[in-house]
Amino acid sequence: MFQVIISILAILLILVILMLYLMVRFMIGKRKAELQWQRASIQKIGGFGATKSLEILPLIDWYSNTKYLKGEAGISYLIKTDKNSILFDVGFNAKQSNPSPLLHNMKQLGIAIDDFDIIVISHNHLDHVGGMKWQRKKSFSLTNHQIDLKKKSIYTPIPISYPGLNPICTENPTVIANGVATIGTIPNHDFFLGWIAEQALAVNVEGKGIVLIVGCGHQTLPKIVERAETLFEEPIYGIIGGLHYPVTDSRIRIMGIKIQKYVGICRLPWRPITMNVVQANIDFLKKRNPGVVGLSAHDSCDSSITAFRNAFPSTYKEIKVGERIAIGSGE
Ligand SMILES: [Zn+2]
Ligand SMILES: [Zn+2]
Repeated sequence: MFQVIISILAILLILVILMLYLMVRFMIGKRKAELQWQRASIQKIGGFGATKSLEILPLIDWYSNTKYLKGEAGISYLIKTDKNSILFDVGFNAKQSNPSPLLHNMKQLGIAIDDFDIIVISHNHLDHVGGMKWQRKKSFSLTNHQIDLKKKSIYTPIPISYPGLNPICTENPTVIANGVATIGTIPNHDFFLGWIAEQALAVNVEGKGIVLIVGCGHQTLPKIVERAETLFEEPIYGIIGGLHYPVTDSRIRIMGIKIQKYVGICRLPWRPITMNVVQANIDFLKKRNPGVVGLSAHDSCDSSITAFRNAFPSTYKEIKVGERIAIGSGE
């Protein structure tokens, strides 16, 4: 009996020490992220070109309209401009299957590896780099093994490796193609996951403005928009992708726990994201009068998606695997 009590006390002590460590790390990390944000000297990107048409084809996201295409709690979008095709993130592949849901969907949609020339990784999280295995290795993979990507240009938010290729770390805002730039990393700190450096893409659509394409959105919507407004002369026209609003539900569950409500929110886990936060972000975005808005369901609940859909009734775009979102001359 005495030994049992000692064991329970030891476990409690370890948990208290762990929580204290996480608390201190979180407070230091949040302060560091905020200082980096405030001190970043952002030079304006002018004259980086424009595209007449922009097409975003979700290859991986939570929802899919047909049983022939697989949905999962990750992101991979094929982005087409007048001159380039860019693969933005490479999905989750939670079961590390081959073909992965990404390769499966690509085949169903008639898309080959040769159909894009650039890969951009938003951040090193398992649902964006093709699984935990690749996150741990600071690499990425389109299926359960790394296939030959030939001579593609790769842009990553932190130093990431890929066999035979030299990915370019775009910590700072960088033009990567005509009318396409990464807005550079905006850091944040998560209580459990630690430091997160995430980048978003900006595409300049002729006559309309900047369309932002986002992975998980750990940077927070206001900072993504403010960074883009500092960087570009053109107005913000829209935002498409993940913004991490798991208020009532979580797509990823571990032993029944709605994990995204507590992990990845970059807040104290006992102060999760509420509908008030979502509404404040919607109000912030409304002031820009965007022409296109689409929220990924991979890290947001249906309640948040409904709030966005209702707030932008004429401009909201559903994000579903296989359903093209066309902006510009292709609309
Ligand atoms: Zn994500
Ligand atoms: Zn993430």
